[in-house]
Amino acid sequence: ARKPMMAGNWKMNNTVAEAVVLTQELSNRYKGSWSDRAEVVICPPYVDLKPAVTVLDFDKTKIAVGAQNVYWEPKGAFTGEISIPMIKEIGCTHCIVGHSERRELFGETNEDVNRKVKALLAANMTPIVCVGESLAVRDEGTTDEYVTAQVRAAFAGVEPNDVARSIVAYEPIWAIGTGRTATPEQAETVCAAIRVTLAEQFGPEAAECVRILYGGSVNPGNVEGLMAKSDIDGGLVGGASLDAASFAQLVEAC
Ligand code: 13P
Repeated sequence: ARKPMMAGNWKMNNTVAEAVVLTQELSNRYKGSWSDRAEVVICPPYVDLKPAVTVLDFDKTKIAVGAQNVYWEPKGAFTGEISIPMIKEIGCTHCIVGHSERRELFGETNEDVNRKVKALLAANMTPIVCVGESLAVRDEGTTDEYVTAQVRAAFAGVEPNDVARSIVAYEPIWAIGTGRTATPEQAETVCAAIRVTLAEQFGPEAAECVRILYGGSVNPGNVEGLMAKSDIDGGLVGGASLDAASFAQLVEAC
């Protein structure tokens, strides 16, 4: 059975001072049972990563820290970018890749996503690969085709055993930050299609291992219906991860 995962994507929120306060609150709310229920990951902005790792103290809380993006080259003349050795050295274990905001606002392509996924896996880190359709694609009725094509592109050329330790997050763009969550049925349909595609490409064993998260206006009021679905293994949470009490409720719903 797959262990559920609750991941918080802070996006561009929280200065270092604010990050210290929020991670301290999370660490105070931590209960021993969290790590039995779910893997918990917090993804703050780059400058907050090291303070978050220090305050959360994985050995004690089992709350892991991930970046929201990374560049695939290890070092060099890439002004403004951050490398995998940099985030790994300070204690990050996970990294979000291909969030729709990066694809839409910063021009990230499927090829970029694939390079980042391969580089993270080569460094023994866990990519959280985001896929999801716009409202226009949903209205056309081509959601499954669109999303599964993103999945195939993200993992092109990756070995099945590396796919097996990756995370996929299905985040319909129309549900992000809008308060308009996908229904559990809508989310499950696409997450199941993602798993079928992974099984076709990499075999059923790898596909059964991959955690598939749902993201898009997840909150304490709707998490249980989503988590009840067989192909939804957790959440990637934006807004509700910025409040320690709400995020704790989400973990406890796993
Ligand atoms: P919200 O939970 O704020 O809708 O954000 C979802 C998201 O994009 C997480 O990566």
